[in-house]
Amino acid sequence: MGSAIMDTSIDVSGIPMDTSKPVLVTGANGYVASWVVKGLLDAGVSVHAAVRNPGDRNKVGHLLDIAKGAPGRLELFAADLLDSGSYAAAMEGCSIVFHMASPFVRDVSDPMRDLVEPALEGTRNVLGTVCDVPDVRRVVLTSSVAAIYGDAVDVEQRPGGIITEEQWNDTSSTDREPYSYSKTLAEREAWHMVQSQDRWKLVTINPALVIGPALNPHPTSDSFTIVRQMIGGTGRMGLPRIGVTVADVRDVAKAHIAAAYLPGASGRHIIAAEDTDTLALAQSLRPRFGSSLPLPGRALPKALVLAVAPMIGLSRAYVRRNVGHVIRANAGKSRRELHISYRPVQESMEDMVEGLLRSR
Ligand code: NAP
Repeated sequence: MGSAIMDTSIDVSGIPMDTSKPVLVTGANGYVASWVVKGLLDAGVSVHAAVRNPGDRNKVGHLLDIAKGAPGRLELFAADLLDSGSYAAAMEGCSIVFHMASPFVRDVSDPMRDLVEPALEGTRNVLGTVCDVPDVRRVVLTSSVAAIYGDAVDVEQRPGGIITEEQWNDTSSTDREPYSYSKTLAEREAWHMVQSQDRWKLVTINPALVIGPALNPHPTSDSFTIVRQMIGGTGRMGLPRIGVTVADVRDVAKAHIAAAYLPGASGRHIIAAEDTDTLALAQSLRPRFGSSLPLPGRALPKALVLAVAPMIGLSRAYVRRNVGHVIRANAGKSRRELHISYRPVQESMEDMVEGLLRSR
């Protein structure tokens, strides 16, 4: 299998970065956040990295490796979304807070406890501390397109059949797409909290499904659960065609940094490179990995997916609302205002799978 050289840089040229003050990244060890930390450290910014357990080498070893030789300085802090006030020490002296920590897992036993509470209470906790720390001027919140729509079928009912920053997810709940519900409540709370003052500004990044290589060696993000299913053989007979919109993790990281430092950045930003579906994503791997991985060959008919749904971990209601429906996202604002030019999806998928195979 030929291996191309993977691009591990975040291009921050044209972004006026202030290296005189540290910044805080919550959930700094995570899949997306690790790339933000790398982009910041490589540009010379000092990063206060808040993680649950700074002593766990499995979780933070990659951050320590990134920091070696980078011009920016990395400092680790212990904090938990559900531990009120626990981000205060990490936030001291910081001008920018990247609030990225939030559980991204969809297979949970108690959606309220496992998703909604950490997302919502965590946002209250972190932004509550922002209100008390006078140095903070800007908060970049990692929201999601999940705060914009709940199920693929909803998008078809939107004006022009496309999602935009003006829209909100109004269909999710603890019983229906609870992860999307958690992101919607958390982002709404952040917009509510920013209104109570005028010292700090809120900018949100609303990424599509994030794909691309991980810096953390044991990624737990649901992005990897989805791609592992595509390449692991379970979909060999075929895959349900579920509409998704996707973006490369390196472009998502750049968007966060642009949102933090471009003076005019404001509001919400959909970060999406391409509107596609699960089967097309898997098939983009064919040229490079078709002979070595059991990739899915065809779309499973919706009637068949409905019949077997419980056996493959999907509810029939989810299948009805998502399989065979198309997502279209308008990411024009991110191109115009954050200057993002998106990587091709095939490159993102190949780099992601290359990394997964290397860490096997
Ligand atoms: P990830 O790798 O699982 O990162 C999640 C981070 O949140 C981890 O650092 C995790 O810490 C932390 N976290 C979870 N519960 C916590 C708690 N109670 N206290 C403190 N930290 C906690 O997933 P990711 O994909 O990078 O997601 C990062 C952000 O991007 C999330 O806000 C997610 O909603 C958003 N997002 C992701 C995607 C995507 O497709 N990946 C798309 C749109 C938006 P541990 O490692 O200790 O668990």
